[in-house]
Parts: sequence; structure tokens; C-alpha cells
Amino acid sequence: MPASIIDGVALSRTLRADLARRASALKARGITPGLAVLLVGEDPASRTYVGAKVRACAEVGLASHLEEYGAGISEAALLERIVALNADPRIHGILVQMPLPRHIDPLRVIETIAPHKDVDGYSVRSAGETLTGLPGLRPCTPLGCMLLIQSTGIPLRGKHAVVIGRSNTVGKPMAMLLLQRDATVTICHSGTADIGRVTREADIVVAAVGRAGLLTATMVKPGAVVIDVGINRVTGRLCGDVDFDSVVQVAGAITPVPGGVGPMTVTMLMSNTLDAAEHAGTGVRADAPEGRRTA
Ligand code: NAD
Repeated sequence: MPASIIDGVALSRTLRADLARRASALKARGITPGLAVLLVGEDPASRTYVGAKVRACAEVGLASHLEEYGAGISEAALLERIVALNADPRIHGILVQMPLPRHIDPLRVIETIAPHKDVDGYSVRSAGETLTGLPGLRPCTPLGCMLLIQSTGIPLRGKHAVVIGRSNTVGKPMAMLLLQRDATVTICHSGTADIGRVTREADIVVAAVGRAGLLTATMVKPGAVVIDVGINRVTGRLCGDVDFDSVVQVAGAITPVPGGVGPMTVTMLMSNTLDAAEHAGTGVRADAPEGRRTA
């Protein structure tokens, strides 16, 4: 029997309805949740992602403040702008769309964003909070993947989860969130000798590499949950890292590309911004929706 499709669009729709209710409640208290989105340069993919984020803000009832800068903006000028946004009470979340031009250090940019406005969850502090399970803002894509996995009803305790990819923004935090929910976690990466040997043992596979067709049916245990984070363009067509047509015949549940992780990433950005707005001025860190576990 083919896998059930984990529909990220449908789950997003449900979650966004709830986020809209939270936004209305804040507005009733005189607070309009605000997200600043900074776009530097002319990268077409970045422009597409920023467009989706701005549209999602409108859908949920957040105020988006889009700021566009030419690729020639100096690092100092960009940092100065972030410092100003840190102090702006209308702004609860600050997102700087990556990648940045080569003359701008992304780490310096991320570290300039105030921790309570770091709605991308990329800062060293957010990474530490994710690692330790402390309250704080989690990176959007791994958070979205957790909710997609949880939507299948599979209990994570005692399950073997394999994450392919070890980036600071997706692979590593993904592994930490799974670990916090009691999965037994293995991370595969570009130096792993035989990925299929590892993934064949997995109850859950999260592929976050950026290589079309990386995960094939022979690498998947029958009934496994497969989450495809990858975004690749093959002869003009959008696809993930998973060879969907073959893996759908083996897996128990699978996310499509498009329509899986992508919309959830944007939804989690809205969720983080609302968390930040709800906690603004309290000095208390938001409790991440994937749930806490510190022991
Ligand atoms: P990255 O390039 O920073 O990291 C890729 C990781 O894959 C690295 O850790 C590397 O070790 C590993 N890798 C490279 N080649 C490999 C191989 N042959 N076998 C196993 N591992 C290999 O990328 P990223 O930012 O983590 O993103 C990964 C993919 O997810 C990209 O396609 C990106 O576009 C996509 N992405 C999607 C969303 C979304 O919302 N859907 C969000 C973020 C990233």
C-alpha cells in the first residue's frame, strides 16, 4: 500500500487559523505583531521566499515591514539598521533573508539581532537553547518538520530517527528536536560511508541535503516516516531529496515537494513571531511548540 501523504499545506492552514486567532487577541490588547523582513540583493529564489513570508503575514494578521537593499549595501549599514529594529517596539521579529552578498558576514548579522527577536532561530543563543531544550525560538524548518512528524501520530519515544544533513540551520537542530522528544537519533552527512545502511534501520528519515534523488526506495524501511526538506530544481521542476515516486511505495508516510516542509517553514516563522510578540517586554523566553524535554 502506498504511503499516506503528509500534507504540509493542509496542516499549515489549520495552524495558521489558530495563529490568526492569537494575532487578533494581541491586537485586542493594542499590540500589532510585526515582522521586519530584510532582503539584500537580487537573488530570485530569495525574492520568492520573502514574497511567501510577506503573504503569510497578511494571511495571519501580522504587520510585515519589508526592507529591500541593493547588493552593494555595506555590512556596517546593515548592522546599523538591525540595531535600530532591535529598539523598535513595533517590530517583534527580525528576519534577514539568506544568502547575503559575500562581503557581509552572515554570522555577524545574525548575532546582531536581539535574541528575543531572532524568529529564524539561527543565533548562537537560540542554538544553545535548542541544544539544551530551554525555552526559546527554534529554527523554523526543523520545528515545522517536528509538527509534520507529530501529525502522523507516531510516538517518537523508542524510535530510530535518521537526519541526513548537518547544517546549523536544518540538520543539527532537527536532530536535537528529535532527541528532545526521546527518539534515538543518527546524523548522516557528506562524510558518511553508507547512508543506505543507516536509513534502512530508521523509523523516521529527514532528508536535508539539497541533492535530488538522494534517498531511494531501497534505502527506506517499509512503513517509515519520510520528511523531505530538500529543494532542488531538475529540468525546471521543483523536487526534494527523496525519489518520491519510488519511496512512496515503501514508506508509511511521506511529505511531498512542493507542499510539505516549505509551507510549514513559513508557518513556523509566523508562529515564532507571534511567540515573540506575546512575550515582548516580559523577559521570558517563548516555550517552543515542539514541547520541552531537558532530561
Ligand atoms: P546545506 O548546504 O547548508 O547543508 C547540506 C548538508 O548536506 C551538509 O551538512 C552536508 O554534510 C550534507 N550533504 C552534502 N552532500 C551530501 C551527500 N551526498 N550525502 C549526504 N549528505 C550530504 O543545506 P541546508 O541549508 O541544510 O538545506 C538543505 C536542503 O534543504 C537544501 O535543498 C535547501 O534548499 C533545503 N531547505 C528547505 C527548506 C524548506 O523550507 N523546505 C528550508 C531550508 C532548507
